[in-house]
Amino acid sequence: MRIDTTQLAGLPTPAYVYDKALLSETLAAIKAEIRDNANYHVHYAIKANDNPDILAAIAREGFGADCVSGGEISAALAAGFPASEIAYAGVGKADWEIRLALDAGIGMFNVESREELEVISQLATETQTEARVSLRINPDVKADTHAHITTGRAENKFGIAYEEMIPTIRLACQLPNITCVGLHFHIGSQLLDMRDFENLCLRINELQDLLDEQSICLGNIDVGGGLGVSYTDPDGQPIPDFASYFATFRNHLRLRPGQQLHFELGRAVVAQMGSLLTRVLYVKHTAAKDFVILDAGMTELIRPALYGALHKIDNISAAERGDADQRHSYDVVGPICESSDVFARDYILPRTERGDLLMLRSAGAYGQTMASTYNHRPLPHTFIL
Ligand SMILES: *Cc1c(COP(=O)(O)O)cnc(C)c1O
Repeated sequence: MRIDTTQLAGLPTPAYVYDKALLSETLAAIKAEIRDNANYHVHYAIKANDNPDILAAIAREGFGADCVSGGEISAALAAGFPASEIAYAGVGKADWEIRLALDAGIGMFNVESREELEVISQLATETQTEARVSLRINPDVKADTHAHITTGRAENKFGIAYEEMIPTIRLACQLPNITCVGLHFHIGSQLLDMRDFENLCLRINELQDLLDEQSICLGNIDVGGGLGVSYTDPDGQPIPDFASYFATFRNHLRLRPGQQLHFELGRAVVAQMGSLLTRVLYVKHTAAKDFVILDAGMTELIRPALYGALHKIDNISAAERGDADQRHSYDVVGPICESSDVFARDYILPRTERGDLLMLRSAGAYGQTMASTYNHRPLPHTFIL
């Protein structure tokens, strides 16, 4: 992070610290990559980070919003995203959430089952509204990522099996108060190998050929999100490789004339601009190991406990003390009463002392939004610098 670390010294911890300048640069980088494609639209996936000021900054740059709950739809509207630019996905949309979305007049529902399609039709009929729907198709492509964040395999709960695509489109066309506008896909998260997105393109091409045979043409293709970031080198790669990402779709996806292409990026937009700022409570020496015990734990950042994720850890106090060259191996842990409350094992840090300020890097996505009050802890502070 390019934030001047002297600004952090007096802040209460644990705290999420967001680098507004890096967010702006990231948004500008995305816009630059799609400038020449008027039919490309990027929706920001709100679940990655729903801080109201960050949402407002993203909305002001003209992005749409991808929501997965009624609460997120309300947050998106409050932040200034136009209703027409809101997409709503999720396998389990409750009736109140569907009604809220219909009342707001959102751009589209990404529908994950026939059962859901029927309920949306019924509620839209009751409220005399028209629901624009895209069908989320499970493309059954394997993506190279952690099992907990792959979503596009046949065994995942998400989407409609691709063999069911045509009958489900036919059903959507028959149901009252439903307009079927497109197909939606989302194969997983933290994907860094462009071949995963290439495979998705090839599968979409096959499906579009099937649609051609049936003379069905849908206006929107939504390829979801999933572009990953560098957790190991946030300073070297502060902005994800958007050029390769968008080029993959430009080169491999065969769109039909007039078709609009939607992207739903979450992590790639916000991960690198955020750090979790935390203080060392104790350095505990034992026969087996030395532990750095932080005032932040899995309650503030659950990704290590949930996915085995490793966030780069910087000791900014040691750097200021001139201790940066004294390397030691520590297990870096939180204070929560769970054995999985570990940020890193055998991690090399400068010599670390009680009171040192540490930053867990690349924590802008799926950090604060997953925070909990487990152990009756207060939620973390937030600073946008
Ligand atoms: C979570 C999610 C996204 C965003 O995923 P990232 O990996 O953060 O880009 C996009 N679309 C849908 C449907 C999602 O559930």
